[in-house]
Amino acid sequence: MIPNTPIRTDRIAADIDALAAITEPGRPYTRRAFTPMFLEGRKWLEKAMREAGAVTRIDAAGNLVGTIPGKRPELGTIMLGSHSDTVPDGGRFDGIVGIVAALEVARGLLDRGMVLDHTLEVVDFLAEEVSIFGVSCIGSRGMSGTRPAEWLARTADGLTLEQGISQVGGEARLPAQRDDIKAFLELHIEQGPVLQDEKLDVGVVTAIAGITRLEIIVEGRADHAGTTPMGSRKDALTTAAWIALGVEELGRALASGEAHFAATVGEFGMTPNAANVVPARVRMLIDARAERRDDMDRFVDELDRGVAAIAQKTGVTVSVPRIVSDNQPMPCNAELLDVLDAACETAGARHRRMASGAGHDTAWMARITRAAMIFVPCADGRSHTPDEFATSDDIALGASVLLDAVLALDTKLQGNT
Ligand SMILES: [Zn+2]
Repeated sequence: MIPNTPIRTDRIAADIDALAAITEPGRPYTRRAFTPMFLEGRKWLEKAMREAGAVTRIDAAGNLVGTIPGKRPELGTIMLGSHSDTVPDGGRFDGIVGIVAALEVARGLLDRGMVLDHTLEVVDFLAEEVSIFGVSCIGSRGMSGTRPAEWLARTADGLTLEQGISQVGGEARLPAQRDDIKAFLELHIEQGPVLQDEKLDVGVVTAIAGITRLEIIVEGRADHAGTTPMGSRKDALTTAAWIALGVEELGRALASGEAHFAATVGEFGMTPNAANVVPARVRMLIDARAERRDDMDRFVDELDRGVAAIAQKTGVTVSVPRIVSDNQPMPCNAELLDVLDAACETAGARHRRMASGAGHDTAWMARITRAAMIFVPCADGRSHTPDEFATSDDIALGASVLLDAVLALDTKLQGNT
């Protein structure tokens, strides 16, 4: 129990345990979108939403939505939620805590006999994680009208995505974009160690980092590893190693500023990959994430220049880094950030502002409404593993911040539509 609020830690703990039990047998915790387990989890959630006083439905985009009509529904909707799907062998908290906290806010209001002026909705977005169809945030993209039309023809397990959405109860051909949502808030585990290291309770998320992926091909020459003198080789691997170190150095330099930045050589493959052959070719894929677009532009520029300089030094051909995918950073709504900071003070949560290096449904919702999110600590920053852990007390404190923010917004957003 968090003092002076109706938020109950025991209910949060029970919800998390109940959802954790709905997993593929012998494979905790696996509840991937579009699977029977996922639908079973949703059945549980629907019941929990109804018990919290909500009317439930599946929207056209395949999201599970619980609605508690406000006293003045013409004011529009305040929406809370996250996702209940997991990665294979994932955790019990990623996404789930956001729905459980939203449910607890609804139950807390119900316990106090309070009905908002705005309509309150709790949402479980469809397939936030990379799904069997190879794409992510399917539900929040649907609700924000940003789901590419060509995605519907993607196939997996003998199904098209369109059929997948209809199997969960959606109707992909119908418009799902909402225009009545006045604010969206998501609570999520941090998936990093900052809050734990700094002994803080809540991170108020300033922006969801943009992600740019770049491919580099290094073309050396295969030669006999025993007979080719050291001075006359074109070794693709050693050149690629210089590049990888350069990516790290550049990433560290950009990360030393105020804004979040991270760069990783996440994929790396060489051929022929044989003990007695000088490496002929390397393909590397760089994942770079920036809170500020100008940091990303600088990274790409300096990477271009650095790669050319390394190629000149080693005499090995290196391709110009090719941008494979490129998403802009998405700032959270400034008005909501102030409301969340104030709610942290009210709830007695030690807090700081921070960017999210991971993608979230909030980034898509920010396209159609005021959107923001808060992080709660998770043990050692671990996530996407069964070892993922967050305490019920920390989640409950986050939920009480959400509740305070919702109450503040219910007043603040009137006449400010
Ligand atoms: Zn998540």
